[in-house]
Order: sequence, then structure tokens, then C-alpha cells
Amino acid sequence: MKEDWKFQRRRARLVEELREKGIINERVLRAIGTVQRQHFVDPAFLARAYHDEALPIGMKQTISQPFTVAYQSQVLDAKPGERILEIGTGSGYQAAVLCEMGARLYTIERVRGLYEHTAPLLRSLGYRANCRFGDGMLGWESMGPFDGIIVTAGALDVPDSLLKQLKLPEGMKPGGRMVIPVGGREQQMMTYIVRMGEDEFDRVAMEAFRFVPLLGKTQ
Ligand code: SAM
Repeated sequence: MKEDWKFQRRRARLVEELREKGIINERVLRAIGTVQRQHFVDPAFLARAYHDEALPIGMKQTISQPFTVAYQSQVLDAKPGERILEIGTGSGYQAAVLCEMGARLYTIERVRGLYEHTAPLLRSLGYRANCRFGDGMLGWESMGPFDGIIVTAGALDVPDSLLKQLKLPEGMKPGGRMVIPVGGREQQMMTYIVRMGEDEFDRVAMEAFRFVPLLGKTQ
């Protein structure tokens, strides 16, 4: 079905807005310029599908702001064919952006209603994401190790199980990388982690964001 031209125009404008806000990775901008965000928002918010804002998706959860999706995607920089694990499928929008970038995507959602809505939605839009219902804090060991892990909810700390599912370095090539917002309820620092050895991880705190909390036994 042909897409309404007004969405195409709004999406092109959003891409320019993200460029102005500092997103420079052309592969990310191309993916955002391709994924039809109108399919991932609640129909009540259709008119705001291309506003640079987070929107409610029900079950007290949100679809992340496009800038946040672009920022995390730029930091992760998933290459075609890489195995990427996403924690927090939510609306599926971030998953679709990573699929457009060529990632082999695995994504976990802890709220059953969202999982049941989003897994078929991604399939119907042609995105071959592997979706799972469960606690993402535990990762997806049988499908690992991963080139990249992206956590799209605010964590109090970095779950050990996720660190252990990053690929180990090979020769001069660094190991898997993770982008995860870490901090309290009010604000988290976007944190970039690279596995450098069995128990060795480089960790850089970047900018402050505000996410819904990563839900687990302790939150
Ligand atoms: N990536 C999503 C998107 O593009 O719409 C972002 C959704 S929202 C900001 C974060 C999501 O993480 C919510 O859907 C929430 O239910 C989910 N979540 C929170 N804790 C989780 C956990 N332990 N395991 C899996 N998903 C979790």
C-alpha cells in the first residue's frame, strides 16, 4: 500500500531536525528516513508520529523520542549482519531502525501485552526481528554472544548477565559493545561499554537522558 505523502514529508523533516540536533551517522539517518513511525505509535497520537517526542504506547510504557533512538543507534553503530540484542522491544520502532541498518536483531519485552502486539506488527511490516517475551535483564544466552546490546529502559546498574553475553575480543578487534542508560529514576547517563577481555570492560558515560525504568526483580 502506498504511503500517504504527508508522512513522507514529515519524516524527511524529522531527519533534518535530527541532523540539526547533532546526529551525523548517515546510516542511522537513512534508517530513520525509511521506517514508517506512524505504524508504531498509538493511533490516538498519529498526528504527532513525526514530532521529536516520546509518546505513550499503553501499559505505562512509551515509544522513545526519535532523537533518543537516533542517539543510541549512532552510539551502537550496528553494522550489516551483526548480532544485536535489544532489551525493551516496546513499540518495535527502535527494533525496526536497527533492522533497517542491517542488524540481525534479537529483542526482548517484559510486558506481555506489548510483546503480543509488537511481534506480529514487526513481522507484518517485513522486519525479521526475533522477538521474545521475558526479562531482558537476563539477556538471551542461547542466541549470544552479541556484537552489540542496546538497552532502551533506565537501569540502576549494568546487569552482569548482559556483560557476559557480549562477544570477547578477537586479536586486535575489540569485543562486543553495549549502550545502556544507567542511573536513578529521574535521570540516567547514556553509557557505552566495550568488552576488552574476559572480565575487562571499558566504560564511558555520555549524556543525560530520562527513560522509563528497566523492570526487574529489584525495580
Ligand atoms: N525500544 C522501545 C521502542 O522503540 O518503542 C522503547 C520502549 S520503552 C522506552 C522501554 C521498554 O522496555 C518498555 O516497553 C518496557 O516494558 C521494557 N522493559 C522494561 N524492563 C524490561 C526488562 N527487564 N526486560 C525487557 N523489557 C523491559
